[in-house]
Amino acid sequence: MASIELKNICKKYGEVVAVENVSWKCKNGEFFSILGPSGCGKSSTLRMLAGLEKITAGEIYFDDRLVNELPPEERNVAMVFETWALYPNLSVYENIAFPLRVRKLPSSEIDKKVRWAAEFLDLEDILHSGVRKLSGGQKQRVSIGRAIVREPAVLLMDEPISHLEASLRARMREELEQLVRSLGVTTVYVTHDQVESMAMADRIAVMDLGKLQQIGTPKEIYERPRNEFVAGFIGEPPMNFADCELVREGGQPFLASSSFKIGLGPQSDKLVSFRGASEVKLGVRPESVKAGLSPGEDSVGAVVDFVEPQGERTIVGAKLGGGEIFLIATSPDFRPKTGRAVYLQFDLKRVHIFDSQTGMSMLE
Ligand code: ADP
Ligand code: MG
Repeated sequence: MASIELKNICKKYGEVVAVENVSWKCKNGEFFSILGPSGCGKSSTLRMLAGLEKITAGEIYFDDRLVNELPPEERNVAMVFETWALYPNLSVYENIAFPLRVRKLPSSEIDKKVRWAAEFLDLEDILHSGVRKLSGGQKQRVSIGRAIVREPAVLLMDEPISHLEASLRARMREELEQLVRSLGVTTVYVTHDQVESMAMADRIAVMDLGKLQQIGTPKEIYERPRNEFVAGFIGEPPMNFADCELVREGGQPFLASSSFKIGLGPQSDKLVSFRGASEVKLGVRPESVKAGLSPGEDSVGAVVDFVEPQGERTIVGAKLGGGEIFLIATSPDFRPKTGRAVYLQFDLKRVHIFDSQTGMSMLE
């Protein structure tokens, strides 16, 4: 096992800046995820960790060792890709054994390690089958077997379950997490799917446009997004945003827009850098809005635009006076008719405020 540190890492492909000045540390044994939309530089980062891609600038350390110039085979890393790249003519056993055969280990030792990996991954019953007919989930387990059989110091996974169909993906999410945790190996897991990162990782590095946006536990990133990008990227359905003005009246901060005027309540204490009126964005998660059929304290009037029952909850789309559609997660029994007036109450302990100019959170 090893800890990993990136210091001011940059990757350029000609003029394209894929990764810009990214720094982070991943602890020994940590399950660390890099999360961000397609093209944000996740795979480039992972490939630099693996030694498959030259680093344009910056330093990568495994423990205290600078690995920038080390070839992949001397880094003791294993990588699992989105596509399995199994050898179609070899059995499950030989696919897993392959990296050990390359190293010319004695067959008794290979056998011991392959059987350990197979037991670990629940592949014992199909060890001698060919890989062609295996299910997607089984193939992925074989490719993980091949990665872990060498007992690498670092396990790198690039969208390992993204291509699986939804129900299998949900199951593999749990399987993979348990597996990685019982292995205890330092893992960097790349995905564009926030549900995966949120469910599995100890900590997440959120990237956009080649830059690190925020690093933290799933809870920290969900509850205290540093900027508008992270706020909007994490959470399903996504956070609602409304352009407002932050004004102070009678010493109290208010959010005012064409749709509402509400006091800031408990979040006032956390407000930083508030210099009189300024343009801000209010951010409210669908699960932090209550909808009712009659007006309440500080409620915001809206009109039902659509209702989407989802089983355990119903998503209501409500149009505010200013034209913004807010999504609200309500109980499944709440089924107002389209066009009906509803009254929204924001959970003021859970609202977010972003500087419209910089997109940065204004809450400490
Ligand atoms: P992600 O894995 O987050 O989707 P990548 O790291 O693959 O992102 O890509 C980051 C950026 O670098 C993208 O703009 C992509 O088009 C570009 N890129 C990736 N690999 C290459 C390459 N070999 N040559 C040129 N540009 C590349
Ligand atoms: Mg990628």
